[in-house]
Amino acid sequence: MNDKGNDTRPKARRTATKLVTAGRDPASYHGFVNPPVYHASTVLYASAEDFLAHRARYQYGRRGTPTTEALELALQELEGPQCAGVALLPSGLAAIATALLAVVKAGDHVLVTDSAYGPTRAFCDQVLTRLGVATTYYDPLVGAGIGALLRPNTRLVYLESPGSLSFEMQDTSAIAKAAHAEGALVLMDNTWATPLYFRPLDHGVDLAIQAGTKYIGGHSDLMLGTVSANAATVAALKQTVRLTGLHEAPDDTYLGLRGLRTLGVRLDRHHASGIAVARWLEQRPEVLRLLHPALPSDPGHALWKRDFTGASGLFSMVLKPVPQKAYYAFLDTLELFGIGASWGGYESLAIPFDCAPIRTASRWEPGGPTVRFHIGLEAVEDLIADLEDGFAALAAAA
Ligand SMILES: *Cc1c(COP(=O)(O)O)cnc(C)c1O
Repeated sequence: MNDKGNDTRPKARRTATKLVTAGRDPASYHGFVNPPVYHASTVLYASAEDFLAHRARYQYGRRGTPTTEALELALQELEGPQCAGVALLPSGLAAIATALLAVVKAGDHVLVTDSAYGPTRAFCDQVLTRLGVATTYYDPLVGAGIGALLRPNTRLVYLESPGSLSFEMQDTSAIAKAAHAEGALVLMDNTWATPLYFRPLDHGVDLAIQAGTKYIGGHSDLMLGTVSANAATVAALKQTVRLTGLHEAPDDTYLGLRGLRTLGVRLDRHHASGIAVARWLEQRPEVLRLLHPALPSDPGHALWKRDFTGASGLFSMVLKPVPQKAYYAFLDTLELFGIGASWGGYESLAIPFDCAPIRTASRWEPGGPTVRFHIGLEAVEDLIADLEDGFAALAAAA
């Protein structure tokens, strides 16, 4: 019900509208548009009997509050009809670890894309190994060929599309089909697209992960992870969250909910500005190529066009070979592009990177120095002028 007493159950509304309405219940909060931030540990019960029977709508701060429920329900609605539940975790990496721990056991084997976020690999190599779970990395371009890598004990296939830093597109439906045929689950890190531009559960993914730190937060001021589960995995996910005591703090949960309300307009701008800047970079004489699946020149463009409805503001550039000091001069000269980890905030970023240390199943030979950009909400003309200054500094140092 809304504050007019109207029925506000989910209807077949467009995403832009869902971003405004999802997870809201003003009538429960005296008409205030947003839910309060519940700072909570103890919840009081009406009687000894109720306490012993756990008879209460909410039981304990760690187990969820109206604030956490509001964000979970909003995300569930955005993920679409296949989503049976969402868990909130204290970071994107905690969401990745929790999703994996929810479904593996000793003796299992997991297949992880070679293009996965670096710390995902470290978790597999250093934690899963210790628990008796073996990891094999596969070429992100494997497609239906994943079938040949599945073993009788393969519990899951883990995807990230486009890949971290390198932006290879994966054929999610072909991989999911082959994995399911052998009884393996499919997990995917969907941080780049968010459910606005790609809904993994509609394409056969069983557990979809997001670093909410990035676009959901949108302002570089919180850490948040989310895992969205389908009917096959929701019980395992919720049980693992409960047993490990993981919990997203109330203020950050609220910031996630607040960020979500403007996610659509922000992403539209990141999409358009990202493509405009990438196109401009692509025609520069200093640039070898762009790694951006929304550009027709990108090898992953056809898959992106088939599956995704937009592109975020994150992509990479390969420069033609230059001395290291010219490469660094380009980055150090930029004024509007900060040098720092993470992305998805309102501001632009540019970082140097090298995928070679985190590749074992595919080659990383870009052909020149590489830069990852996050295109923020600044005016494109100003970003381009800043990049022109960067290229002038690069030429002067070459
Ligand atoms: C940043 C990032 C993560 C980790 O999120 P944190 O909130 O920083 O732990 C996971 N996956 C991808 C693709 C990321 O970019």
